[in-house]
Order: sequence, then C-alpha cells, then structure tokens
Amino acid sequence: MYDAIVVGGRCAGSATAMLLARQGHKVLIVDQASFPSDVRLSTHLIWHAGVDLLQKWGVLDAVRATGCPDLTGFSLDMGELVLRGQPPSAQVGAAIAPRRIALDQALLQAAIAAGAELREGVTFEDVIKDGEQVVGIRGRLQDGAAFTAHARIVVGADGGHSRVARAVGAEVYNEFPKEAGAYNTYSYFSGVKLDGVEFYSRPERMFYAWETNGGQTLVGIIQPGHAPRAARAEVEQQFFAELDANAPGLAQRVRAGQREDDWLSAGIGTFCRQASGPGWALVGDAGLSMDPITAAGITNALRDADTLAGLLHQGLSGQQDMDAALASYQAQRDAVSVPLHQFAQEMAKLAPPTPEVINLFVALAGNQAQTDRYFGVFGQTVTPADFFGPENMAALFAPA
Ligand SMILES: Cc1cc2nc3c(=O)[nH]c(=O)nc-3n(C[C@H](O)[C@H](O)[C@H](O)COP(=O)(O)OP(=O)(O)OC[C@H]3O[C@@H](n4cnc5c(N)ncnc54)[C@H](O)[C@@H]3O)c2cc1C
Repeated sequence: MYDAIVVGGRCAGSATAMLLARQGHKVLIVDQASFPSDVRLSTHLIWHAGVDLLQKWGVLDAVRATGCPDLTGFSLDMGELVLRGQPPSAQVGAAIAPRRIALDQALLQAAIAAGAELREGVTFEDVIKDGEQVVGIRGRLQDGAAFTAHARIVVGADGGHSRVARAVGAEVYNEFPKEAGAYNTYSYFSGVKLDGVEFYSRPERMFYAWETNGGQTLVGIIQPGHAPRAARAEVEQQFFAELDANAPGLAQRVRAGQREDDWLSAGIGTFCRQASGPGWALVGDAGLSMDPITAAGITNALRDADTLAGLLHQGLSGQQDMDAALASYQAQRDAVSVPLHQFAQEMAKLAPPTPEVINLFVALAGNQAQTDRYFGVFGQTVTPADFFGPENMAALFAPA
C-alpha cells in the first residue's frame, strides 16, 4: 500500500513524486518507458518561472551540469521592429532548454533520492476502484504479466493521451483541435552563432532558435496547423526557403552550421481536463495541454506539480480531508493556466497583426520596462491579465 502512485515519470510525474517523497510519503512511480529516456517531440524550452522552481527544489544544478547554458537575452523580430529584453522578477533570471532526456532524468533521480520507488516497463491500463473511490492501478509488465498496486491517491502524469484521465472519466473543457493550433518543424544544428533566444514573427509564420545541450542549437519554424505541409523529402528545402525569405540573418548563421539530427514535426490538439476526483488527480499534460507556440508545457507541469504535491501532502498527512485538500487544485491550476492556454491558442493562429497589435508593439519599442514585462508573459513572471489589462495598457500608452 502506497500513499501515492504516480503514473508517468517525466517532468510532471517525477516532480510530483519527488515533492511527496521529500515530505516522507511512500510513493511509487510507474512508467511504460525505461529511463533514461528522451522525448523527441518537444522543443524543451523552460521559461523563467520553471527554472526558478528547479532552483527552489535544488535540481537546477544537476540540469545545468548536463551542458545546457542559461539563456538570458530574448529578441522578438517583428520585421519592422525588434524587441529585446528579458522577463522581470525572476530569481534565477534565465531560461534553459535541456534535452528532455537530461531534464527528466535529473528530476527522476531527485525523486528516487528522496525515497520514491520506480517501476519501469509498467503500462497502466485501468484504475482499481472501491465504489467511486480510486484505490489503485492495474497494468501490464513488459512480459505481459499483470501488475497491480494500491494507494490512497493515484496521480495521472501520463501525458496528453492520458489513460488515467480516460479511466477516471475526467471531464474535458476548453478543447481545440490540432488544426486550430500551430504546427512545429525543427531540428538541431552545431556551429550556429546565436544572439540569445531569437524569435521572428511573420504573418502565418514564426521562427525560433535557442541553444540546448552540447553547444547545439534548436532551430524551428511554426506554421498554422491547417496550412499545407511540405512532403517529408522536401522539409529541409522548404525550411531554408522560408528562413531565407523571412529571417535572412538567422538563415545565414544556420547555413554556416551543420544539421545534427532528423527533422521533427508535430501539431497537437489542446484541452483542459477535470483536475481531480475521489482518490485521483491529473498533473502536467494529462490535465492541461497547451499549444507549444508559447513553450509553456514544462513550466506548467512543474508549477502544477508544486501545487498538487502541496495539497496532497495536506491530505496524506491528515492536516485536511483529502477531498477538501484537492478541492482547490483545479481552480489554482486554471487561474494561471487557462489565460495562458487562451493566449497560446490565439498566438497559434499566426494571424497578421491587427492595427491594435501594431500600436502595441510600436509603444513597446523604446520602453524597456514594458518590453521586459511583455517577455514576462512568456516567462510566466507576468500574467496576461497584468500585462494586457486596462491599467497596464493605459500606463503603456500614456507617454505616447
Ligand atoms: C512539438 C512540441 C514542442 C514543445 N515544445 C515545448 C517547449 O519548448 N517548452 C515546453 O515547456 N513545453 C513544450 N512542449 C510541451 C511539453 O513537451 C509537455 O508539456 C511536457 O512533455 C509535459 O510533460 P508531462 O510530464 O506532463 O508528460 P510527458 O512528457 O508526455 O510524459 C508522460 C509519461 O507518461 C508515460 N506514460 C504514458 N502513458 C502511460 C501508460 N499507459 N502507462 C505508463 N506510463 C505511461 C510516458 O511513457 C511518459 O514517460 C512541446 C510539445 C510539443 C508537442
């Protein structure tokens, strides 16, 4: 009998397990994968709020030690003007972009060091219930043998296609199909000189580049999910044709380098799911999946793990009835994440800028404090409501 079973051992699951184990709870992590293990479909940028959490948990140095540098300068090239700055009010004051094999392993090691037990090669199939109450899981080992385990709480950290969410019948809301979102195509290059983290916003296109482990640079293009895509054999040719036409300076630097990996592409549907119920909770993408255009998923997962583990500790330690402890989880998660989800979904349309948007960026140019605050919406150190709210807009436009 465990206090908690966490299904999924990556950023959301390992962080939750680590925080619970550090509070003295008996935690089992199960994952169908064997670790160390990579996630290829992620551009793995962790913004300032996420980096601050890694620092708070004492995991940041282990992640940095894998060879991913702190990223401190940010630019957004809109064609006619370029904004440069960085999110305000962060503690570490940097983003990082560790390969997922490095990030997930550092978190998993921290969870194990805290006393969490890991069972690899376990595929979750269903929850075990006592009436309405979830009391455990059943699954299958790699050799086909059945696996069962019991716990006071089952946490689904098993990603966007969460089988735990399906098993408990979590309600879905704020759902968008992948055609309404963005479609990412990216690869890794060596020998590319960057000027910090570079974004290029163009009608129907966004380009981005940042440094990751081992001196490699991740370079990508985003297009609307509904737009026609290049055939597999033509991805590179089309990528460079688009980069040459839209961001020639970056194109030149990327061409001077060497591609070190395959081309990777993905678009995803997004949603919010009911965050908890009797004996269960969802964390990370299992509970809320956002369009990758704002690169928020890992930061969200870490923040939700922090919130959820705090509430579960209250329930597990008897400070509060578990249902009462969990009652505020969804509201706390959604207060931060739903506005970010809507912001990302709006950005993912990659619509040409309206006159209001152009006015906003003209006002931002030359106003460093407000430009930093705008980057803070991405770094999750400034909320969309704070930045786009009437008070801040009045302050922004007043000097002009
Ligand atoms: C193209 C793309 C680019 C992205 N870029 C960024 C970015 O730059 N920055 C950012 O912050 N986010 C980005 N994201 C989002 C980010 O990858 C996710 O938010 C993040 O991976 C969520 O982590 P997680 O731990 O919740 O789930 P996952 O990383 O999906 O991990 C789920 C785990 O559950 C396990 N699992 C699943 N099913 C079962 C089962 N039945 N039984 C046992 N185990 C199971 C899996 O093996 C896996 O280990 C991107 C996403 C995409 C698609």
